[in-house]
Amino acid sequence: MTVAALRLPDPRPDWALFLDVDGCLVDIAPTPDAVVVEPGLPALLDRLAVRFGGALALVSGRPLAELEQLFHPARPAAAGQHGLEWRGRPPLPRPEGFEALDAPLQAFAEAHPGVLLERKSHGFALHYRAAPAAGAGALALARRLAATTAPELRVMPGKMVVELRMAGADKGTAIRAFMEAPPFRGRVPVFAGDDVTDEDGFAMVNAMGGHSIRVGPDIGSGHGAPPASAARWTVPDAPGFRRWLAGLVVMDEPAGEGAGGPGT
Ligand SMILES: [Mg+2]
Repeated sequence: MTVAALRLPDPRPDWALFLDVDGCLVDIAPTPDAVVVEPGLPALLDRLAVRFGGALALVSGRPLAELEQLFHPARPAAAGQHGLEWRGRPPLPRPEGFEALDAPLQAFAEAHPGVLLERKSHGFALHYRAAPAAGAGALALARRLAATTAPELRVMPGKMVVELRMAGADKGTAIRAFMEAPPFRGRVPVFAGDDVTDEDGFAMVNAMGGHSIRVGPDIGSGHGAPPASAARWTVPDAPGFRRWLAGLVVMDEPAGEGAGGPGT
């Protein structure tokens, strides 16, 4: 029954898998710290990476260190902070005025009980899941503060969160960067995400002839509040997406897949 509800592409061994984390690999929790990684998930990520020739990467708004902690002992390839943070590369310089934003953001969080300020090396996030009425104020503050740094920060509203982060990278450019080098190069990019910040990734894989998968209720019919998504495939929820992922490990070997494998 669940399978019949899925609208997902038929898996192929020449894919490169790009996976958002919150809302896809883990269910969204009241706070970012409270997410629960299903016990078998790190091992599944390892098996999937093998299945796709190493071409699997997490593409998340979370810092790299959190991704490594969440999925330990698995350590898949990853782009953190929406592609601003890469393993083994020196951190990017921060915009002028970045540090000065901490105080007004903290003051906003203190003035709105339930609002959580998350600090990252290249951005801030105001989470208001526990205080939905603060959302409009958080967005207005973020927009005002974004213009006070040089270069300006980018404001990204998400699910019960407003992110304020350094411009210059997004999930689309992160996917493109992975696709430029082995083991990703030459494969068909497949990206799954659930939120507004994932739209850059959907657009990128669409442009590269890949598959974009939105995890969440279908918004293509236009009756919901959120804008329509660029994603071409949907799966209704994160557990359903994870079941589909698990199935990729055991997909049939297509006839003729030789020792050389795909990606040539
Ligand atoms: Mg997400």
